[in-house]
Amino acid sequence: MDVDVVKGIGDKKKDALEAFGISSVLDLIETYPRRWVDRTREALVAHLEEGVPTMVVVRVDSSSSFKTKSGRRMVTVRCSDESGKLSLTFFNQNWREKQLTAGLTIAVFGKPERYRGYLQMTNPIVDLIGDRTGRIVSIYPQSEKSRISTWDLAKWIESTLKRCEPRGIADPVPQEVVEQVGLVSRGVALHDIHLPESMEVRHAARRRLAFDEVLRVQVMLVARKLLAAQESRGFVHRTTGPLVDAFDASLPFPLTRAQRRVIDEIVADISDASPMHRLLQGDVGSGKTVVAVSAMIRAVQGGHQSALMAPTEVLADQHVMGIRRLLDGLVIPDDGNLFGGREVRVELLTNKVTGEQRRRVLGGLADGSVDIVVGTQALIQDAVAFRSLGLVVVDEQHRFGVDQRSRLRDKSATEADGLTPDVLVMTATPIPRTAAMTVYGDLDVSVLDELPPGRTPITTEWVNTPVAQSAMWQSVRDAIGRGEQVYVVCPLIEESEKLEVASAQTVHDELSAGELAGTSVGLLHGRMSPAEKEATMERFRSGDLDVLVATTVIEVGVDVPNATQMVILDADRFGIAQLHQLRGRVGRGAVASSCFLLTKSDDPSPRVEALVSSTDGFVLAEADLQLRGEGTVMGTIQKGRSDLRLASLQTDLDLIQLAREVAVGIVGDDPSLAAHPMLRDEIDLYFTAEQEDNLLKG
Ligand code: ADP
Ligand code: MG
Repeated sequence: MDVDVVKGIGDKKKDALEAFGISSVLDLIETYPRRWVDRTREALVAHLEEGVPTMVVVRVDSSSSFKTKSGRRMVTVRCSDESGKLSLTFFNQNWREKQLTAGLTIAVFGKPERYRGYLQMTNPIVDLIGDRTGRIVSIYPQSEKSRISTWDLAKWIESTLKRCEPRGIADPVPQEVVEQVGLVSRGVALHDIHLPESMEVRHAARRRLAFDEVLRVQVMLVARKLLAAQESRGFVHRTTGPLVDAFDASLPFPLTRAQRRVIDEIVADISDASPMHRLLQGDVGSGKTVVAVSAMIRAVQGGHQSALMAPTEVLADQHVMGIRRLLDGLVIPDDGNLFGGREVRVELLTNKVTGEQRRRVLGGLADGSVDIVVGTQALIQDAVAFRSLGLVVVDEQHRFGVDQRSRLRDKSATEADGLTPDVLVMTATPIPRTAAMTVYGDLDVSVLDELPPGRTPITTEWVNTPVAQSAMWQSVRDAIGRGEQVYVVCPLIEESEKLEVASAQTVHDELSAGELAGTSVGLLHGRMSPAEKEATMERFRSGDLDVLVATTVIEVGVDVPNATQMVILDADRFGIAQLHQLRGRVGRGAVASSCFLLTKSDDPSPRVEALVSSTDGFVLAEADLQLRGEGTVMGTIQKGRSDLRLASLQTDLDLIQLAREVAVGIVGDDPSLAAHPMLRDEIDLYFTAEQEDNLLKG
């Protein structure tokens, strides 16, 4: 229902509310208080103690503003209650003068001090409570611009809830679930979040409403996943045979337990008729490549093709070499061939593969003689057709859009058999479990939570003084002296690649002539031609270069175990995930590695601090979530009505897990929710068709 059915909301207020994002009655009652003032804990001014943070409710007597000697703007507000006087001082909050006019009743929370004999608080938290009474006063977000005050909202919400009382509020969550999870009813929850009698009931109300928010997302994801499984037919890959045996026997190292477990999970998926849609999370260096190749070789065993899509050319090159090395000498048995078959054919397809070579690769994909193709986005161009694409691996998922991934998957829909290939998405940027469950709730998730043995931990140091810098270059030179290699990562300049390249060139020239004179220093950046890039990478890999000065093109996937030192210039320009990726380029061999984070500032940024204190990608992902907030993780998926308003990805892990289990129980094998019509309606109400679709594609 439109919000103007509420008493007191006419055309003018309706427009103002609209500007505030509230157009329906539902929007209105889902506008939750941003704070609750617990008046049972308020003190009298006369009882304030210096230095003890306390809440008082006072009346404003006057307010004024002036400039201090140092040029700062200061607002002073004089207030009182029946027991005494208190003055409030605000710095850099000029608007307080207009906001806090004489006669208003306000709740003030702050630390009292005595200044020239008077009690005062500096920059306290202030809530306007108007003439509202009650033990707990709800404080709503207030919009100065649209002239909607916190008590307008309180009044409208209260009258709406009153009008709902006779009919009650529907509860689409099955009663058993409500009881089993120990929740209050939705009607009680809506009342108690707005008009709580105590902080305890408010807490129970929040829990119920937050649960509903995450349950809606999970029900939708679980239903969509089931629907996708029912609607599409996948390959039943033959996962055993001589090729697979030969591959397993030829591995240069024993697999870690985690790798074996994940391979088993994948094998179970791909030998089953419903298409795999699995996310493989594994920290930098956890050995995702060999897991992906194990899956690809199984698709090849049964006579199908596999594709691996990488985010950059450097990485695609690297993968193709790595995969050829792993598959070297492996033969596809062919009963009709006297010589016993042919070698597994692995080809590269990027924009730099042109002319005759490109025609050969395209031809091979079409006639099935290319078994495995590695490429960049070039793989999803229209000219690329496969004979039988059975498995798609997408590396470093966060760099591709949802759309690109589904296009690659669609590649096989044009085939006569119409089967949907299995999809494995790999990401080296772990995202917190809660976020994974919410954002990737329609994917199965495998985690490589174990690093291959023989890695030595990376020591990370924050470097910001000239003395520390010379010590750093000394230890870098020592490492080169021992035959180890070094990366120097140049400052990130997001606004201009040209400037970034220029700065990398400067760093290269200065180091070659200065701190690292006498060593061989190479340069790698995004404006070099692919051939130049590859030549430089090859020189570094072969040990011909001691030092590689690079822009972030080396961020992903570059694998040179002999590189043990990483220097990151202006480290505070990078995000946590990016720094973690960069650092993951060292620590890949048995020799102890170091990472130096240089900044010019006197304080390490929280991001630099996080990197210094942990090398665990999952811990860092949590830190990142905390620092950046949730919007960035949820991205565009959660916008509008389906926003999480109360639930938090950071603190409601238990609720999210619970909701997941409950959703699986509710959906069962009934993705259209025929048995739960009220819930079905609610999901339709909260999610647009487009949102449902995007989540499905994701
Ligand atoms: P990432 O997960 O970062 O993509 P890679 O697949 O590039 O990791 O593997 C990192 C390095 O570890 C490679 O040099 C790879 O050969 C090696 N590696 C992978 N698995 C193992 C293992 N089980 N034992 C020893 N080394 C391994
Ligand atoms: Mg990798």
